[in-house]
Amino acid sequence: MLAQLKENITDILFPRRCPLCGSVINRNERICSRCSKDVEFIRRPICRTCGRPLYTCDCRRGQYAFVRNVSPLVYTRAAKRGIRRMKFNNSPSSCTYFGKLMANVVRREYTDIGINFDCVIGVPMHSDDYRNRGYNQAALLAKIVAEELELPHYIHVLVKYRKNSAQHTLSFKERQQNIKGVFRVAMPEMIRGCTVLLCDDVTTSGSTLNECALTLLEAGAKSVYCVTATVSVLSEMPAIKAAAFNTPWL
Ligand SMILES: [Zn+2]
Ligand SMILES: [Zn+2]
Repeated sequence: MLAQLKENITDILFPRRCPLCGSVINRNERICSRCSKDVEFIRRPICRTCGRPLYTCDCRRGQYAFVRNVSPLVYTRAAKRGIRRMKFNNSPSSCTYFGKLMANVVRREYTDIGINFDCVIGVPMHSDDYRNRGYNQAALLAKIVAEELELPHYIHVLVKYRKNSAQHTLSFKERQQNIKGVFRVAMPEMIRGCTVLLCDDVTTSGSTLNECALTLLEAGAKSVYCVTATVSVLSEMPAIKAAAFNTPWL
């Protein structure tokens, strides 16, 4: 009875919150009922390159330097709320929620079919942005994924040493240019010959993952596979869709 009372008091003082929207949830719920209604898991068939549901994929073979990307969720409604919460509210429960889903999809799509990773790396942030925000959500996700999969998590190996404009304001082609040459491998000996698992929160055009992968490969990594918490689908990115129709190399 005393234990029950203690639990009840803890629940009142520190209520459990939905990792996606922050509303109060019961002890037996993972996410709130509203979010569970509009969270969209990526179901098969999925593109074996960009990780989108196949019917929304617009990529082509050889477009990316990474081998493959996989994601558990479509970047829509509930997942968007969760990403925002993780990015701007420093919510550890949101990171844990996404990180565990990412580790599950890595097991299912990569490690269960014999792809073994040497390390996990999060897409880095520029030091100015890191100072402003106080944390890098991609690195936090990479840490959880690494813990779940019992792999080494490397920080300060891949660094962003040049600032660029925010990617979400740009068209597909502009994103490619904007991100070019902004990353560097600070300790190439750490990743030489390695199969790297690269983590991020959202992938839209794939340009950021692609540039990170190129940088890692140029520094001697053997191959780069990606996992992102969410992936945008075409309906979520009208500017990119429009650009895709006008871009001959797509
Ligand atoms: Zn919720
Ligand atoms: Zn694709």
